[in-house]
Amino acid sequence: MKRLSDIGEDSLIERLVGRLDRADGGCATVVVGPGDDCAVVDVGRRGLYQLLKTDSLVEGVHYLADAPAAKVGWKAVARVVSDFAAMGGWPGQLLVTIAMPANKEVRYVEALYRGMNKCATAHGAEICGGETSSVPEGSAAVISVAGTGWVKKGRYVTRSGGRVGDSILVTGKLGGSLRGKHLSFAPRIEESRWLVEHFRIRAMMDLSDGLARDLPRLAAASGCGFVLDEKSIPRNRGCDLFRALGDGEDYELLLTVSPRTASRLCREWNAVFPQLPLTVIGSLTEKGCGEPLAVKQGGWAHFST
Ligand SMILES: [Mg+2]
Repeated sequence: MKRLSDIGEDSLIERLVGRLDRADGGCATVVVGPGDDCAVVDVGRRGLYQLLKTDSLVEGVHYLADAPAAKVGWKAVARVVSDFAAMGGWPGQLLVTIAMPANKEVRYVEALYRGMNKCATAHGAEICGGETSSVPEGSAAVISVAGTGWVKKGRYVTRSGGRVGDSILVTGKLGGSLRGKHLSFAPRIEESRWLVEHFRIRAMMDLSDGLARDLPRLAAASGCGFVLDEKSIPRNRGCDLFRALGDGEDYELLLTVSPRTASRLCREWNAVFPQLPLTVIGSLTEKGCGEPLAVKQGGWAHFST
């Protein structure tokens, strides 16, 4: 009998979404369905598409039980906000579901909500409802955040728009997130909105599972392969290449643009965001070309044992 650990997260999702029926969704049409950072829906609003996203944190998987509750709350919302940034959009309303063991301290949950509220407010989002549930004794706590966002119709960016020859760029530095960044990162909303307003960004996503996992996803969605200039990958202090590729939870933006756009983009970026590096780390190739070995070895995979 096949188990989840036999097939892994990506092929599980592929199996599940392949069997979904499309429906006439009332007054809305799905523009981008499962498989990207957010779903994109045409709700009939002039000039804007709605973005839909849901995400969860599981104790022991995404955070440790002794992590500060307010930071865990920040992270729960920031991950969703980061996915809105990945599409070139911004967040709107959020719904929060928590499932906690009955012996959890009340002040822990209050601090959790303080952190969620702080992150939402910082990015122009609002928590407007939710659900609470208990979990059986001994089970892990789960925090789930679902939300709506918005993106300008001509500006949304998917993972699948990359073309052969595109330059691949990444914001910030990679690796070492477990030292603290994974609980306190700043979603790249402002940067993403600047990018899509000023440049033709062909493909984009946020890095949640590590470059080693996420870049192959972007390349595959675009029908491309890729080559990396491993020396150019910006690494956080104390991180070797393997960690930069595989630690995960960087929540930086990974994007592709035409090579001509890349040099102009980097120049203008440095003037607007001098504190945050933007680095060309490789290029998209024909499918089946490139793909250095190191990339195949790292990254976070749910259900793998
Ligand atoms: Mg994402």
